[in-house]
Amino acid sequence: MKDLLNLIYRHRYDIFLSLVLISTVIFMCFVFPLNETKNIITSIENSSFDLRQKIISKHKTVNKDIVLVSIDDPSYEYLVETYGEWPIPRKVHAEIIDYIESQNPKYIIMEFQYIKSLWSNKGSDEKLINAFKKYPNVYTVFVFDNYSYELRQPPVIDKKLTTELKIDSDTLKIPKYKNCRIIMEEIIKATDKIGHTNEADKDSGIIRTIPLIANYPLYNDKNYEEIKDQYFLYNTLKLSIDYFNKYENANISEIKIDKNNNLILGKRKIKLNEKGEVILNWYGESGLKDENKFKYVSFWKILKSSKAKREKEKELIPKDFFKDKIVYVGGSVFQLSDVRVSPTSMTMPMPEVNATLLNNILDNSLIKKADLSYNLLICLILGLSAIYTVIKIRSIYSSVTMFLIFLGFYLYFATYIMEKYNIWVWIAIPVVSSFIAFIFAFIIKYLIKSRDFEYTYKLATTDGLTNLYNHRYFQEQMKLNTDKSKKLNKTFSLIMIDIDFFKKFNDKYGHQAGDAVLKHVASTIKSCVRVNDIVCRYGGEEMAVILENTDKKSALITAQKICETIASKKYNLSPDVQVNITISLGVSTYPENGNTPSELIEYADKCLYCAKENGRNQVGFFN
Ligand code: GH3
Ligand code: MG
Ligand code: MG
Repeated sequence: MKDLLNLIYRHRYDIFLSLVLISTVIFMCFVFPLNETKNIITSIENSSFDLRQKIISKHKTVNKDIVLVSIDDPSYEYLVETYGEWPIPRKVHAEIIDYIESQNPKYIIMEFQYIKSLWSNKGSDEKLINAFKKYPNVYTVFVFDNYSYELRQPPVIDKKLTTELKIDSDTLKIPKYKNCRIIMEEIIKATDKIGHTNEADKDSGIIRTIPLIANYPLYNDKNYEEIKDQYFLYNTLKLSIDYFNKYENANISEIKIDKNNNLILGKRKIKLNEKGEVILNWYGESGLKDENKFKYVSFWKILKSSKAKREKEKELIPKDFFKDKIVYVGGSVFQLSDVRVSPTSMTMPMPEVNATLLNNILDNSLIKKADLSYNLLICLILGLSAIYTVIKIRSIYSSVTMFLIFLGFYLYFATYIMEKYNIWVWIAIPVVSSFIAFIFAFIIKYLIKSRDFEYTYKLATTDGLTNLYNHRYFQEQMKLNTDKSKKLNKTFSLIMIDIDFFKKFNDKYGHQAGDAVLKHVASTIKSCVRVNDIVCRYGGEEMAVILENTDKKSALITAQKICETIASKKYNLSPDVQVNITISLGVSTYPENGNTPSELIEYADKCLYCAKENGRNQVGFFN
């Protein structure tokens, strides 16, 4: 821990720089193309949701009380052949209702919009209207849209289809529809079991959410001025409330939405998003093969069974197939746009979408999005894990592998949470942000490494006491300079320096005072030469200066200058003790005094010796 703190302290500027860099990138991502970034992230998130749904739907079991009757492709062909036209006469719908009702189902939901049109046939329609009058457990649907007033007058919908809502939430903003394609007045008169069947906005055409509540204003008949908001329940929600009242004694009379956007249905709560929508939890494709999926009967089989029943022949459908069932009847024909793309299927019939919704409501298994705080916590944990793998693991391959294992583990966790608790935790943002953290951690690690390298290099080439270059560096530079000068046919010089009577000085004032003087001498020498001249501690109290591109004459001038500057300075050892230091110097120049480093050092040494011999405090000459 202490090491880590030390490391952080030593690299505080790098870390600061990196943090500024990260914040800038995040700032750029979020502010610059805000909407674009958001859309891309949402798209990836939705795809990750679809993938999770695909995985978990495989081993889910549906509520066996919900069954589907579908106008599938064979039924469509049969109907067009039998009735010679599309849509089919509404008496056929009445016949279907009659047949299913004969087996005593709990509910029938007719997923067709019974609109008055040129096809309407009074006698045939009458049969359907009578069926609605006769069976109070038959539901049907209508849709809102946003077509212009000029195309179609927005109808005033019978008040009995609206629902009083008690809304305590401030955040709920249910989108308002402008227009409506209302169904036959006679059916509305016959029953109030009518709910809307609008779909929520879809990202890339995939149906994931259902708007449980629609807002369609009450219009003034003459000028389409809005008088007040009116709320309409989604058909399956309407049916669910009836179901809870009838089969669970829920006694729901008033519909409330609490502060947290929970739709309160007796003891049950349904969490809505701010648009009043819910997210479906899918079961996978229905079919005859899989026992765990919705059971599905073709429309034509019911018609044939109905005929067989009338004629007292053997029916295709078992006698109590629909007994106590909730039966969704609708189309699944692709050409008639009866199918949707869902996370688990490319061809999901609308009745099955609604069956899924009902099953979710009954089982309390609608998908809930995790709170923002949990999602951010996940981002933080994944980000820190990414940084941890980079810091702790030396090899890049191992840290990438480790990071991927972390991510894999998280993906498993996110899927598990959805399967077990129906909770949708973010995948896109945590994965992307941890990836960014991983990359930045690498950059920081690289920066730290390069700084460390610099530091180690400095340690290896400088002398701790004087801060001059050390002997090793001196030898390296001597070799480099001789090679370079040889190649470029240039000259360079070397000054060797030795402090006079230093042994005595040490003996008199002690080694610590000696050290202080060494430092002073070193910095004085540095101040006398050019920045690119290389000042080294040769060893002990001997120093050397390498002067690039310098001939003998200039080197002697520099040596003389150093000698005089040192001699002219007084060093304060303590407030009342002042001392004078002198040095002796020797100069050699390439190539006139030698062709190799050792020849040059030897020559300068000899000059230095001469200086000592001549009385010190001078630049020596060797003849
Ligand atoms: P001369 O004028 O002939 O050079 O006399 P000198 O006493 O300086 O002789 P010499 O160069 O042989 O002595 C070197 C002395 O320098 C020996 C040692 O006491 C001292 N010395 C060497 N390195 C250090 C150091 O790092 N710190 C201190 N305080 N003294 C040092
Ligand atoms: Mg010496
Ligand atoms: Mg000496």
